[in-house]
Amino acid sequence: MNDPLEVARAAKGFLPEDEADALRAAAHRAGPGVWLEVGTYCGKSTVHLAVVAREVGARLITLDHHRGSEENQPGWEWHDTALVDPHAGRLDTLPHVRRTLFDAGVEEAVNLVVGTTQQVARWWTTPLSFLFLDGNHTEEVAQHDYAAFAPHVVRNGLLAVHDVFPDPRDGGQPPWHVVQRAESAGAFEPVSITGSLRVLRRTAAAVS
Ligand code: MG
Repeated sequence: MNDPLEVARAAKGFLPEDEADALRAAAHRAGPGVWLEVGTYCGKSTVHLAVVAREVGARLITLDHHRGSEENQPGWEWHDTALVDPHAGRLDTLPHVRRTLFDAGVEEAVNLVVGTTQQVARWWTTPLSFLFLDGNHTEEVAQHDYAAFAPHVVRNGLLAVHDVFPDPRDGGQPPWHVVQRAESAGAFEPVSITGSLRVLRRTAAAVS
């Protein structure tokens, strides 16, 4: 039996140990209910969430189109040729996440949803006790994902946002803009900051 956290550590992806620990702590705090992760990639953070979901009896859904973000495409900084499906000639991270979840022994704790956030936002209606935004980091999609899914977070439910860099020298700005939007409208209040991971709590105010 593999240690799921060891499997997560070995999986492709970008999640330092301290941020993984903070993500699991936030998940514990969120408690039972339905959790949505936006941006599965190869399943690294999914395993961290699944371990806690199983423990507290939450249902974890993870959403990705599995074709990679801009920065993962050929010629870009984070391109990984091992993730290309030769049949389609395009990135395909789905087989990798399947393998990661299998190796970690957490398949039964996770539902994979394959699609764009725009597609899924059209039919998603389920209240969320935990939302983890870690999808496409362009301004347009980051803002879309917040506007589409944050209203489903229940009062006192948690929102985690990854890759938040207030200083542009450290990284792209859209996730930071999402956090500012969430806090300035009063819909969410800050809970914790660990590296580039922000955790916020839903208030009674509406998401705008
Ligand atoms: Mg990320």
